[in-house]
Amino acid sequence: MIEIREGRCDFCGVCVAVCPADCIELYEAKIVIDKEACTDCLNCVHVCPFEALTFQEDMV
Ligand code: SF4
Ligand code: SF4
Repeated sequence: MIEIREGRCDFCGVCVAVCPADCIELYEAKIVIDKEACTDCLNCVHVCPFEALTFQEDMV
């Protein structure tokens, strides 16, 4: 799943634009990811200029 490092996010909206599942939303001062809809494509991780998004393996 994708984890957000909130202190790093600059709310630029780049991740929202590249998400093929349309599951990232930018509210006032918060990024919200619908983890059910996320396909772990990692587009958002790669484009974030501030390294605010990281991929964590699911704990099983
Ligand atoms: S990993 Fe892909 S599907 Fe999941 S939030 Fe990021 S861009 Fe969207
Ligand atoms: S691309 Fe990174 S800095 Fe920009 S809104 Fe998304 S998480 Fe925040």
